[in-house]
Amino acid sequence: MISFTIITLFPEFFESPLKSGLLGRAIQSNKVVVNLVDLKKYAGGWHRRCDDYTYGGGSGMVLRCEPLAAALDAVKGSAKVVLTSASGTLLTQERVRTLYGESALCIICGHYEGVDQRIVDEYVDYEVSIGDFVLSGGEYAALCIVDAVSRYEPGFMTNPESLVEESFEGGLLEYPHYTRPEEFRGRKVPHVLLSGHHGEIARWRLEKRIEKTRSVRPDLYRKYLLSTTKGESDGSEKND
Ligand code: SAH
Repeated sequence: MISFTIITLFPEFFESPLKSGLLGRAIQSNKVVVNLVDLKKYAGGWHRRCDDYTYGGGSGMVLRCEPLAAALDAVKGSAKVVLTSASGTLLTQERVRTLYGESALCIICGHYEGVDQRIVDEYVDYEVSIGDFVLSGGEYAALCIVDAVSRYEPGFMTNPESLVEESFEGGLLEYPHYTRPEEFRGRKVPHVLLSGHHGEIARWRLEKRIEKTRSVRPDLYRKYLLSTTKGESDGSEKND
């Protein structure tokens, strides 16, 4: 069982995603536990204000230390603390696996300009960005983290083999998939996939993975080449 605690200004944001699809099913069967924590409950004062002006000028607001610290002290327990942040380390499949290894994560959803740096310095174990773009809130990123990490929980995937063959595993993107019918608007399913010849299918799939990776992600392809020439056929991503 893996557990997530999410500290957010908008707990209602998570309602439908946590009920849907594979993640919803895993939560229902207690393979994955998600506790939603409303940051406002930890803010004192009549207005329960969680943000304040940024020191040094500028119009942006920043999430204050006190409510975040009170929430973290109350709910984090032994979990590792993950901050969603556009300026964090990029989330890769390798980091997803590392996060799965922690077994309990407390995720902070930033908002406005982000959170006071002293919270980062005092509490945060992983500062995670889900891509080189800026979101309006950490809730979107938190959901991505919860879903990607939960996929490693045994029983989460209907077909656990997908975990091995999917994009990024082995340092390559995935091969193309086809289902019925055999012909659609004149486009045929590649013959080899109908051949029943497992060896040839595996070779074709690897070729397609390499082709796709070389054309859309030259950065990954270079790492893959390096890892195969070094004889590390697992080809797992290396840090830059
Ligand atoms: N001022 C910040 C952006 C704040 S966006 C900057 O320039 O870096 C508001 C919140 O959305 C952030 O605190 C963070 O929690 C979340 N967020 C935005 N982009 C993100 C990304 N790429 N990955 C993860 N979280 C992100």
